[in-house]
Amino acid sequence: MSTRSITPDLSAFEVPMDVWSEPYWHTAAEHRLVLPRCGACNTFRWPAGPFCPECRSQEVEWVAPGQGRIYSFTILPVAGPDKDAPPQVRIPALVTFEGAPGVRLVSALIDAAPEEVKIDALVEMDWLPAANATVPVFRLQNPPPV
Ligand SMILES: [Zn+2]
Repeated sequence: MSTRSITPDLSAFEVPMDVWSEPYWHTAAEHRLVLPRCGACNTFRWPAGPFCPECRSQEVEWVAPGQGRIYSFTILPVAGPDKDAPPQVRIPALVTFEGAPGVRLVSALIDAAPEEVKIDALVEMDWLPAANATVPVFRLQNPPPV
């Protein structure tokens, strides 16, 4: 059996939230990803903030960003749960979305065999419980059989 990337335990993790990011987390709790787009000029503003970086409008709409794909990633070896356990890997990934130009979302790529992870690989969202929120993570979409 090949090594697969670990799923982080976020159960004690407190997500920092503010009035500008609250719609993101509210929708994440329903296992849906939305990103903030300027209501005046359509520029995505990520991380979420009060003003559009292009036109300074405060109008915002929250939209589903479409298909995600890996922009960049790294493979981090980490120790197993005890000294006799095999080593594990974490795979933080930076993901872009076809419907949200300019946005790069960083999170963990879970349950992936390191040899399957490639730049431009398609990903789908998955969701992990944190202390006060639901956190988006990525999975490879249609991974090849191992
Ligand atoms: Zn704008």
